[in-house]
Amino acid sequence: MLREAALESCPRETAVDAVRVVLEKVRRDNGAGYGETDISAAALAREARRQCEKWLTPSLRPVVNATGVVIHTNLGRAPLDPRLFDEAKAVACGYCDLEYDLAEGRRGERYHHAAAALRRLLGCEEVLVVNNNAAAVFLVLNTFAKGREAVVSRGELVEIGGSFRIPEVMAASGARMKEVGTTNRTHLRDYADAVGEETALLMKVHRSNYRIEGFTAEVPMREISRLARERGLVDYYDLGSAHMGDLPWDLQRREPPLPEILQRHAPSLVSFSGDKLFGGVQAGIVAGKKALIDRLKRNQALRMLRVDKLTLALIERTALAYLRGENDRIPALALLRTPVETLRERAVNLAARMPLETEVTEGEGLVGGGTLPGATVPTVLLRIEGDAESLARHFRAHRVIGRIEGGRFLLDMRTLFPEDADAIVRAAAAWAK
Ligand SMILES: *Cc1c(COP(=O)(O)O)cnc(C)c1O
Repeated sequence: MLREAALESCPRETAVDAVRVVLEKVRRDNGAGYGETDISAAALAREARRQCEKWLTPSLRPVVNATGVVIHTNLGRAPLDPRLFDEAKAVACGYCDLEYDLAEGRRGERYHHAAAALRRLLGCEEVLVVNNNAAAVFLVLNTFAKGREAVVSRGELVEIGGSFRIPEVMAASGARMKEVGTTNRTHLRDYADAVGEETALLMKVHRSNYRIEGFTAEVPMREISRLARERGLVDYYDLGSAHMGDLPWDLQRREPPLPEILQRHAPSLVSFSGDKLFGGVQAGIVAGKKALIDRLKRNQALRMLRVDKLTLALIERTALAYLRGENDRIPALALLRTPVETLRERAVNLAARMPLETEVTEGEGLVGGGTLPGATVPTVLLRIEGDAESLARHFRAHRVIGRIEGGRFLLDMRTLFPEDADAIVRAAAAWAK
């Protein structure tokens, strides 16, 4: 079998395993008395080759995001600009000065690389980049509140998809959670009354994926920070997502930009994700007072939460893009900002190429991914006629993820890149056949 032409280009070990798997299957099927399999060596070798190819193909590959959710946690959150990625490529593909001080010719510090650009961008004393925002929350609590109390509002005990829950992260960090207020209302006096001998930290958590409406009250970070200063405690704001401004529609009114939060509220520490609305790669960015960040750096746990050179390179270049005013290099923002007219034009062009019955309509999409709960963005949709569930399954098989609304299968133009059109037309052609 191994001498069959079909298996020539497969690595020998893999080919042997594949032949075994194929023969086993043939024996089983024929043993059960069904199957009229072609059992010539050439046919079985071709089958084995297909098995080899499956094993040797990466599992993590691109998809077309036609869901309209810009920061889609299941689809890899923020996309990256290829130019920005190219700039960082040399760092990853060769040697770099990750922990090397070129002036002194000795060991340097990993964390100083992205820090200078981020300090300038955010206008804060110091910055630390860790593996993700969950790691940032853990590190802050573990450093300042291990074995002591961290005070947090009952209205802010967030659960994020993928099992990040504030009470559980707190428990894992060794901090004791002291809940204050009620689900809908928490007042400054609740925090003040909770502070005791054991209190180390006052925490605020951004309601990233839900809203509380009606008879509600929450305490602004500014007041929590002031109380913390008066009592000699650390105050910390887990922002989840955070953005640098430049959001279209009325999105900015829902959530002030990060520099504004830092200046207006002057919290001791904040943290946010590098790959939500900031638009970079997976990372947790802690910003705030230098003396506190120095203590985070001395925590042994940081060694377990530290980031790779590629992450640092990409976060630094994302920060530099903002500093240079090149916000068009942040695809998440560029997608959000695309005018509806442009989307409509693209939808009409795409519809003209589709070998299926379609209709261009307008609708609303979501920002998504633990960013701006309930906020919608105007968008243009390509509605495809036919059974929605079957269409969704067919397009998924072609790595195109759409969405179903009102029993119709829709492709949302908001999250499509111009080069996605070909894949969509191919998937549509396969359906039409
Ligand atoms: C998203 C989010 C996190 C977790 O951030 P990751 O970067 O996914 O680890 C933590 N807290 C809040 C409030 C969030 O929105």
